[in-house]
Amino acid sequence: MKRTSCLRRAGARDLLCLLLAVVCPSGATAQQAPVPAESFDCADAFDLIAMTVIIRCAHYTSPAAAHARIDAARHRLQATGLATVAEFETLEITFCPLMQGTGMVPGPERLYLDDGLQGLSVDGLAEIIAHELEHVRQFANRGERGFKCDYVRDMMACGGCQDRRHPMEREAYERQDAARLRLLHESPSTPGSVTTRLRPAP
Ligand SMILES: [Zn+2]
Repeated sequence: MKRTSCLRRAGARDLLCLLLAVVCPSGATAQQAPVPAESFDCADAFDLIAMTVIIRCAHYTSPAAAHARIDAARHRLQATGLATVAEFETLEITFCPLMQGTGMVPGPERLYLDDGLQGLSVDGLAEIIAHELEHVRQFANRGERGFKCDYVRDMMACGGCQDRRHPMEREAYERQDAARLRLLHESPSTPGSVTTRLRPAP
């Protein structure tokens, strides 16, 4: 299996060290203990990050009202033409304590929303879901391994970033931006944009 240089760059290594404790012993620096690039497969690196979230989320149950809000946001996106019914057909959306960020797509059929968003307006939630739907689309276009390797590679290239400097995140933010504008236009009474109150979503 072809190995990539996913973990070659020291900047992103700091981020991954939070999860890769085995190869990143406490206190080590990039100079002291460089991680051999051939030691990891890029898809494995993505899965290692995703699995920590999946395991944590497996033990979390959100209140019934939370599901109703997800449904309302989904209907809002569909009613405004920002998402299709098909995009939700095989997608499981649940709240979960993400610890970092507002949403995550660990695989092509699963979307986690941070449980801190449960009190958000329907449009605010819809905006976040629109962002994550773009990642679902990226999964579909690249294939599961393609998505994981591209995501890790691009994250390495920008020093571990998950903001607009990351090309795949930039696509997602552009869809989120478009959703925000449309939702504001469709419903002027909608409370302020979520992005004015929340940190960027990875
Ligand atoms: Zn994202």
